[in-house]
Amino acid sequence: MTVIETEPPVAATGDLSGEAYRVAMRRWLRANLPASFRSDSAAFSPPTLPQSIAWEAAMYRAGLAGIIWPQAYGGHGRTLREHLIANQEIGALAMPESVNSIGKELAGPIILAVGTEEQKRRFLPAILEMRDIWCQGFSEPEAGSDLAGLRTRATRSGDIWRINGQKIWTSGAYRAQRCLVLARTGPLEDRHRGLAMFAVRLDAKGVRVRPIKSIDGRESFCEVFFDDVEVLQSDALGAPDEGWAAAIRVLEIERATNRMYRAWRFENELRHLIAACKSDPVLAQLVAERHYEVRLGEVVVDIEVLKAHVETAVDALVNGDRIGARGSLAKLHWSEAHQRFAALTLELLAQASLPLQPAVQVARRRFEAIYLQARAETIYAGTTEIQLGIIADRILQLSKGK
Ligand SMILES: Cc1cc2nc3c(=O)[nH]c(=O)nc-3n(C[C@H](O)[C@H](O)[C@H](O)COP(=O)(O)OP(=O)(O)OC[C@H]3O[C@@H](n4cnc5c(N)ncnc54)[C@H](O)[C@@H]3O)c2cc1C
Repeated sequence: MTVIETEPPVAATGDLSGEAYRVAMRRWLRANLPASFRSDSAAFSPPTLPQSIAWEAAMYRAGLAGIIWPQAYGGHGRTLREHLIANQEIGALAMPESVNSIGKELAGPIILAVGTEEQKRRFLPAILEMRDIWCQGFSEPEAGSDLAGLRTRATRSGDIWRINGQKIWTSGAYRAQRCLVLARTGPLEDRHRGLAMFAVRLDAKGVRVRPIKSIDGRESFCEVFFDDVEVLQSDALGAPDEGWAAAIRVLEIERATNRMYRAWRFENELRHLIAACKSDPVLAQLVAERHYEVRLGEVVVDIEVLKAHVETAVDALVNGDRIGARGSLAKLHWSEAHQRFAALTLELLAQASLPLQPAVQVARRRFEAIYLQARAETIYAGTTEIQLGIIADRILQLSKGK
């Protein structure tokens, strides 16, 4: 395995708070993040899987993963506000996305909420130490937005469940050890009753993973087939009928707090764009024109609104409230705003003078990738139309069909 040499884990000492904690995180990240991992650097070269695993394990040892998880399960036992501070610092750098965000941000919180003591001790440290990478097996060919229509079936005989069915769009399944599978235990007509959640090993007999090529040329998501796959009761998460409630919690978390650094990364992207434009005489003049000044100003407003969404969600959670439908407001805004921004970056950079300045070349490479990835942002974690429906229903309480 690749070894990443890092400075001592200053942030894990536990006795730092507030600004001192922020400074320690910032210092550690800036001292240890390899230049080749930074997509705003000329030295950028996307990390391999072993490099990502080693880097994320180092981040964990430094106190930058499992921040709010209890120490008994390998976490750092800190507050949600400190989690936010760490994410602001992570977002400020052009770092690669986690290869285990499903483990750290979806499976982990679910296991903390509904898992047994034994499951918490078995699964959680393995996620943080990057021994187990997770993926999310919810969507199916006939069940995406209408998740309650899923058909993958789990039948129980004693202590053994048998799973049969197919998942699709399972991000990162080809590199994962475990899949968080939502499966049906009752009849299809029961819709969201009779759904259960399982931690399925992807090397189990009867599991087949087939990668799908996406628009950016990467094979990032997969089809996953389950053919009479045996899963022990000890890998069932929560009671059989708790699957839907647990899935809704996953989706709320996913929409509101998953990748909490998003707004700050967005700000990093905007700064990068402006710096690249200033390195080119034609672009420098363009961004100073009224038309682009206004559009870039709108991006700043979008970023500030996104930050406010995250900070409000953190306040709600700290006060013991659920995020509920407000997660849909945040999801709708970040995905739509980021897509608009991605289009603006390409529109601007296409007008650069030739030959391209080195800084413009770096920015073009980064923003072309962001543009393609942003196409999916209004689809995954619930499409724009689904978020609008939730806002109409649950926030505005507009009755259906009138
Ligand atoms: C990059 C990417 C990664 C993904 N990763 C994962 C993953 O790891 N795990 C996982 O389980 N899933 C994953 N997904 C799947 C994602 O959750 C689904 O694509 C999404 O829920 C939409 O479902 P669908 O594709 O079946 O489209 P459909 O639900 O068939 O929707 C098709 C269109 O109809 C619209 N529509 C549907 N229902 C309504 C309605 N009631 N009102 C108005 N409009 C409606 C939709 O908005 C959409 O425009 C990923 C998707 C993408 C793009």
